[in-house]
Amino acid sequence: MVSDSPLVRQRYTVRGIVQGVGFRPHVHQLAAELQLAGYVTNTAEGVVIEIEGPADRVTSFAAAVVDRAPPLAVVDSFALQDVATLGTEGFEIRASIGGSAATLVSPDVATCADCLAELTDPANRRYGYAFTNCTNCGPRYTIVTTIPYDRPNTTMASFAMCDACRAEYEDPTDRRFHAQPVCCPACGPRLDISIEAVAAALQAEEIVAIKGLGGYHLAVLASSEPGVARLRARKHREDKPFAVMASDLDAASGLCIIDGAAKELLRSPARPIVLLPRLPGAAVASAIAPGTGELGVMLPYTPLHHLLLAAVGEPIVLTSGNVSDEPIAYRDDDARSRLHPIADRLLTHDRPIHIRVDDSVVRTVDGAPYLLRRSRGYAPAPISVPSASRVPILACGAELKSTIALARGRQVFLSHHIGDLKNYEAYESFCEAIEHVGRLFEITPEIVAHDLHPDYLSTSYALELAEKRDIEAIAVQHHHAHIASCLADNGLEGPVIGVAFDGTGYGTDGSVWGGEFLVADLVGFERAGWLAPVPLPGGDAAADEPWRMAASYLDVLGEADSAPIVRALGDDVRWNDVVAMTRAGVNSPLTSSAGRLFDAVAAVIGLRTVVNYEGQAAIELEAIVDPGETGAYPVSIDGSTLVGSDLVAAALADSRGGVERGRIAARFHHGLAAGVAAMCQRLRAETALGTVALSGGVFANVVLLRDVSRLLEAAGFVVLRHRQVPCNDGGISLGQAVVAAARAHHRPTDLLRSEPRRTGAGDV
Ligand SMILES: [Zn+2]
Ligand SMILES: [Zn+2]
Repeated sequence: MVSDSPLVRQRYTVRGIVQGVGFRPHVHQLAAELQLAGYVTNTAEGVVIEIEGPADRVTSFAAAVVDRAPPLAVVDSFALQDVATLGTEGFEIRASIGGSAATLVSPDVATCADCLAELTDPANRRYGYAFTNCTNCGPRYTIVTTIPYDRPNTTMASFAMCDACRAEYEDPTDRRFHAQPVCCPACGPRLDISIEAVAAALQAEEIVAIKGLGGYHLAVLASSEPGVARLRARKHREDKPFAVMASDLDAASGLCIIDGAAKELLRSPARPIVLLPRLPGAAVASAIAPGTGELGVMLPYTPLHHLLLAAVGEPIVLTSGNVSDEPIAYRDDDARSRLHPIADRLLTHDRPIHIRVDDSVVRTVDGAPYLLRRSRGYAPAPISVPSASRVPILACGAELKSTIALARGRQVFLSHHIGDLKNYEAYESFCEAIEHVGRLFEITPEIVAHDLHPDYLSTSYALELAEKRDIEAIAVQHHHAHIASCLADNGLEGPVIGVAFDGTGYGTDGSVWGGEFLVADLVGFERAGWLAPVPLPGGDAAADEPWRMAASYLDVLGEADSAPIVRALGDDVRWNDVVAMTRAGVNSPLTSSAGRLFDAVAAVIGLRTVVNYEGQAAIELEAIVDPGETGAYPVSIDGSTLVGSDLVAAALADSRGGVERGRIAARFHHGLAAGVAAMCQRLRAETALGTVALSGGVFANVVLLRDVSRLLEAAGFVVLRHRQVPCNDGGISLGQAVVAAARAHHRPTDLLRSEPRRTGAGDV
């Protein structure tokens, strides 16, 4: 390669997910291809490359280094600088220098095609080896103990590489160059019992606890009615759906309808559980997902799963290894004691899991992924937000479906799913996650954001931390956080009309909000509309017993003494007590909750009066919607309120008239959606805002989400939905982080402004 170009030398600094993803071998290969001299190294600033050679080839290099980056690399910034030529020859990969704050720990990655080929090749030295991985795949976040991401800082530290693995690890042209978890049957982790023995146990309908990537699963043959029933009984989990793992897409298509978007998601490196429409004849036990027409399906994401599914020969239930609502077990001793009463046997191994990470759960809506739980395969990849925060921020999230977030600059690092903080173990996980994510990304918060609810453990944590470290605490109203989260998710700052529909959130007036129309930007909000408040009999108890909401709404309608309904619902003595309680205002705070409106309708039509997992009544109401029914119940708007009791009254009348429940459910969904759209049109007339953000756990309901979107778009609105984080409380920490950043940013300038901000009246 003779060139007439002048000799130049350039230095590049590359930031992002560029460590542990094959970036340096890629640079090395490119330099070799173009016959350029120089070096590449990891530094605290990111990956630094110096390249020397003829100017034209150096230019080609600079273009290709990002364009042709390895699939798992995420380049956030690329800085270029001309430096003096040194006349060096050859290209080298130099040892890492200093820390690696600017290089990011990647999420765990599903087994790649190359590793899978080795796994199934009898001539390969990793044939049948359950821990095969390379630079393009394998465990990451779950095994990293601290930074920099090097083998001694992972749970692979205690495994000394054999000569063959070492040679691969040190060869820049090898797929395993600097793959920190590299190992083989001679030097790596081992299973304690054989895959064949486990497969035989599963085929005999036994329950097996299996150590996975981020924790233990409980497995049983998906087709086994007695097996699945036994698992439910032992786990004390009555109805909450179990996920299923199928060996490949073909096997999955025997269970569910899989469209193009779902196919892509199922095979993506994140390998989440994808909720899909179940085929009527699917060979799975009826107890797997009662009351829903869907099935949560995932494909194998570790070599162990690939080997196991191949040996079993049919789909298996793979559900979190825990009892009831406890966090998933991930430490071996804990798993042995907690899972012993549930599992007939246990399959474990000697590679420790450093951090508990559950499977992610995703739906697809109109061909796009819609996350319900963002965890394994996604965490801790950062979300890029529209404006940089001036100081590092910790956001503590809410209480259910808890996540935490750490913000630095334009990046927000969201933790894995932590769970319900009322559970002590989950609270411990919450504290660990704050510490761990902070360490991995070297973020020491100078502001701590939290929910407005005074009784959330996350709030107490935030206030204690603020006092201990003498840093500022910023309270963010729950539904404002939802809307801010949706804005950040879409890379926007607002203002917008925000529709925040969920179960419960603490309002600025101390009442229980949950059906809110906010005019909001990242800094503040105005509560511009809401579902007409009704009593919440028994407070939190109402969420577990939808019949209480039926009592509340029927009392509003003057129908609480209607004998046939009370008889249909069962326990009339408690009914009368609850009605008396709401009338006296005893332990019955007012609520505008949309989730509770769904509960009321589900109970009034006799679909579900008591739930045994969060949101069950709404999930089942959505599941029975008759797709052929286009009717919509009318709903009125009274001042700033949407009168939800209109919908309950219409459902009651239809129910009395013997209308089929699927049609009632459809008319309710369509009616509520029309009410939401009408309220948004009113608010557009007042504010001239033409964009609506949809957030809150109720929008996990795809029928409602699609209905509302369609009506708003037909009315000329731009509709924002979540794309990267869940609409439920799993996204709250992101919202808190961007609100806190915006307030920290704007407060000083606001003081200088001559005009008042248009929004912000609802600031707390
Ligand atoms: Zn691989
Ligand atoms: Zn080895």
